[in-house]
Amino acid sequence: MNFYILTLFPEMVMSGLGTSITGRAIEKGIIGVEAINIRDYTEEKHGHVDDAPYGGGAGMVMQPGPVCDSYRALCGRLGKQPRVLYMTPQGTVFNQSIAQELAGEEDLVFLCGHYEGIDERALQSIVTDYLSIGDYVLTGGELPAMVMIDCISRLIPGVLNNDASAEIESFHDNLLEYPQYTRPEVFEEMRVPQVLLSGHHKNIEEWRRKQSIKRTLERRPDLLREAALSKKEAEYLAFLQNGGEEE
Ligand code: SAM
Repeated sequence: MNFYILTLFPEMVMSGLGTSITGRAIEKGIIGVEAINIRDYTEEKHGHVDDAPYGGGAGMVMQPGPVCDSYRALCGRLGKQPRVLYMTPQGTVFNQSIAQELAGEEDLVFLCGHYEGIDERALQSIVTDYLSIGDYVLTGGELPAMVMIDCISRLIPGVLNNDASAEIESFHDNLLEYPQYTRPEVFEEMRVPQVLLSGHHKNIEEWRRKQSIKRTLERRPDLLREAALSKKEAEYLAFLQNGGEEE
């Protein structure tokens, strides 16, 4: 899968994504990441890509020409027109199921705004999806693009050493993940739950599902509306909701 990032700060995204797990996936050729500098497409002699907003107001707005030209040059090179995701606080808030859907694409373009954003006409011409990483305002779209690329990459076979670890994690089945433990068995007088030391896989699995349900109820009860629970698990949830407590 190939990610193309249209940005004014290519070094920022390349150094972030070139590190750790995504960096190794790039090295192995499992994913491709290319940052395209929008500034390379300006015809303005000082390299400017922004100007004051028509109608007045604070800040600067990125001009439409360099943004559209950078995308069209990419399309010409690829011989196709990939989806363009505009990083914007005005977009749909990104989540795991959007990541799953996007992971099915062969090529994706991430458009990063800066300053007060991008001239509306460029957005109308090339953008297919408006995506946000949350209800707050950042200085640029680079961090949101990196967040989304990191998340989508983990879903691509071969990026994680163990593909199962991307599957049974928070948001799988709309539940948060169960608590995790590693050595030592006792830390500051706190013991690892006995069931995890038992070697009894069925009991461990059952304990983990229950912990997931309990934790989701405590921390993100909104997720439970869409959670995929068996009849027995739904009964357990009702038990907890009625104030029931377990060891
Ligand atoms: N004036 C814009 C508005 O009020 O909607 C905000 C512009 S923001 C300062 C600059 C750029 O940062 C945006 O064009 C967008 O690319 C990016 N950005 C900021 N917050 C974001 C968020 N929560 N999610 C995704 N992108 C964001």
